[in-house]
Amino acid sequence: MPNWLALYYQDPIEIVSGKGNRVVDASGKSYLDFFAGILTNMIGYDVAEVREAVERQLATGVVHTSTVYLLRGQIELAEKIARLSGIPDAKVFFTNSGTEANETALLLATYARKSDQVLAMRQSYHGRSFGAISVTSNRSWKNNSLSPLNVHFLHGADRHLTQFKGLSDADYIAACVDDLRHVLATAVAGDVAALIAEPIQGVGGFTMAPDGLFAAYQEVLAAEGILFISDEVQTGWGRTGSAFFGIQNHGVTPDMMTFAKGLGNGFAVGGVVARGDLMDAPHAVGLATFGGNPVAMAAANATLDFVLSHDLQANAARTGAIILDGLRAAAPRFPIVGDVRGKGLMFAIELVDPETGAPAPALAARYMEETRNLGLLAGKGGLYGHAMRMAPPLTLTEDEAREGLAILVTALENIS
Ligand code: PMP
Repeated sequence: MPNWLALYYQDPIEIVSGKGNRVVDASGKSYLDFFAGILTNMIGYDVAEVREAVERQLATGVVHTSTVYLLRGQIELAEKIARLSGIPDAKVFFTNSGTEANETALLLATYARKSDQVLAMRQSYHGRSFGAISVTSNRSWKNNSLSPLNVHFLHGADRHLTQFKGLSDADYIAACVDDLRHVLATAVAGDVAALIAEPIQGVGGFTMAPDGLFAAYQEVLAAEGILFISDEVQTGWGRTGSAFFGIQNHGVTPDMMTFAKGLGNGFAVGGVVARGDLMDAPHAVGLATFGGNPVAMAAANATLDFVLSHDLQANAARTGAIILDGLRAAAPRFPIVGDVRGKGLMFAIELVDPETGAPAPALAARYMEETRNLGLLAGKGGLYGHAMRMAPPLTLTEDEAREGLAILVTALENIS
């Protein structure tokens, strides 16, 4: 295996079993899972409904037969997602991952607009295939600067920059729209295909755009016919608590959304939901043989039904508020905490040098080890690896929220 595979923790964790919102490692130590495999285990571990759906599919003997045959699970899932998306005349294409989903969306957009020019956000992460990495700006993951696309990166998620410090939301949004107009007026030749953006940047450290930013962007984009792709790989399925898809928090209906991760609760599934005319335009974009395989579809249908029937969006709002309120209340006691932010069950703690306020990746690394010792799995992100990011399963209970909060605060005490 390659040297560049980065495992979390000085002594890597091997997870051998899971139940509810906890996992157990090879030494028998149990952890409350506040990262859920980077948001893949959206409804926790060993969920009877998902296991039974997968077992029923396995019992048919059909694990996969390729997308050249009709797959009922795809149709059922596509209908649900099309309805939930709010996109008019929506159609859905399934992939195996978020990267493939974004690759597909970019293919559709560049085809529809006959343009290789794309807008993306600074600090973004959309995957690392050749197309997806072109619109990824986050340096920690941008291992290749060659691009098949002509990409312009926008402000909108980098409010910490000196030029934006102290601005009100409205002034910041105005500055970002100015930036967008400036790019369109001066940096592009001909038509632009699309803007691709994460409503809350995941790998970027759960950086939030202020409410209203994407609506303001979309006004400019729509006037030019530029498509808007919302990457919902981290923000979809009710995680933000206040909307089912992250972009809906902004009152915006995009032309396409991409999704993956949690939908299969661990099984490989991703996809694009797009306006029918965009989806139908090219004669073939199907990326891979395995997209939407029947086992993944069984898992995904069961997972989505579970999220809806248990109203996990409301649970994300309720349990997320316990943690966010608690962290915000505790933060003033810790000069190493530069920022606490989040929405629903995705929240981040930025660790900084208490003297200078500069990003402190070494502190974040210590914090990771502390939380692990205390029995909680957390994630890391941000441009400098200094933002702790947490995204527990949407099934988190209120007791578990309080338990996790206590661990997060104790770990801050231990490294202060
Ligand atoms: N988009 C976003 C917002 C992501 O966070 C990720 C993965 N971290 C991807 C796309 C790529 O998804 P995958 O790893 O499933 O290819």
